[in-house]
Amino acid sequence: MIQTKGYAAQSPTTELAPWNFERREVGPHDVQFSISYCGVCHSDLHQIKNDWFPGIFPMVPGHEIVGTVTKVGDHVKKFKVGELAAVGCMVDSCRECENCKQGLEQYCLVGNIQTYNGRGKDGVPTYGGYSNTIVVHEDFVLHISDKLSLPAVAPLLCAGITTYSPLKHWKVGKGHKLAVLGLGGLGHMAVKFGVAFGAEVTVLSTSAKKEADAKKLGAHKFVVTSDPEQVKAVTGYFDFILDTVSAEHDMDLYLSLLRTNGTHICVGVPSEPYSIRPFSVLGGRKSLAGSGIGGIPETQEMLDYCAEHGIVSDIELIDIKNIQTAYERMLKGDVRYRFVIDMATL
Ligand code: NAP
Ligand code: ZN
Ligand code: ZN
Repeated sequence: MIQTKGYAAQSPTTELAPWNFERREVGPHDVQFSISYCGVCHSDLHQIKNDWFPGIFPMVPGHEIVGTVTKVGDHVKKFKVGELAAVGCMVDSCRECENCKQGLEQYCLVGNIQTYNGRGKDGVPTYGGYSNTIVVHEDFVLHISDKLSLPAVAPLLCAGITTYSPLKHWKVGKGHKLAVLGLGGLGHMAVKFGVAFGAEVTVLSTSAKKEADAKKLGAHKFVVTSDPEQVKAVTGYFDFILDTVSAEHDMDLYLSLLRTNGTHICVGVPSEPYSIRPFSVLGGRKSLAGSGIGGIPETQEMLDYCAEHGIVSDIELIDIKNIQTAYERMLKGDVRYRFVIDMATL
């Protein structure tokens, strides 16, 4: 077994602290890489706190993982020692269902295997990227460009693909008015992709102080959602809303901002169910939709697109010792716009 150093939550009520554990030896199809950086996703916090379902503890979070390959199995074809490599939210899936066969492993009908807070096919819990090394089957390891800033690439593995995938699926682009609801880790990537795809992008935010940043990210408009006048001005306005909000919010209000036939796409996952009046969708034949991360082929496509267009995340690099402070700031919406852990501080 491979001795591994990491940071774990021992229970939903304890703070993260150093924890040593073991990973499997490198199998014939496995890639091992040393982790240089790992992004901090709001999903890490949801899962540590058991917001969605009872988690598997000790829990080592982290699914925005980049680093350098240190060892490959005998049959590995895609990677060589010394190359950059990345892993996102999944480390395996059934590979046989109709979704897996189409490269939609995130929607595996048997259930994909999450990078952490899941169990591998061997039944052993999976542990994430807040650690010094990881071993993953080569089919779930991604290539990244050495032309981009490595720590700023890490968030593409979740925040990037989670926003890229729905924008591609609904073909959001030129001629569309797109609202990005919530300017955090996912939201700021949604702005970058929405602008790159040619849409008119408006940020809907609770934080007036993020306006200048939104414009710098390329957003065309900015609406403070606590100001009724500003909200009124965009009522019935948007073709799409990409909802990245992590906490309870007024869905009826946001649905009223869609034009006829508009689509509200949920990617944020608050812990409580949404409450929605049927009239909010039937008036104007609106659609309420959702989207989860992205499959492996599309994640590679997104990484290649970002390399070609120079797109990375705007990050604040942190020492792993400050992870609790980062979580506290994240809960207050004070993220500019993704915390990334420098794993050299482990
Ligand atoms: P984040 O960086 O904390 O950003 C969330 C943003 O939502 C905040 O910055 C804030 O933006 C806004 N917000 C927070 N509380 C709000 C409230 N009560 N009402 C209105 N707006 C509020 O989080 P993230 O990492 O981007 O993740 C966002 C959500 O997506 C989380 O629930 C996460 O679990 C989920 N997620 C889903 C997927 C998927 O596959 N679908 C993948 C990754 C993450 P403003 O200050 O601009 O208002
Ligand atoms: Zn995530
Ligand atoms: Zn499957």
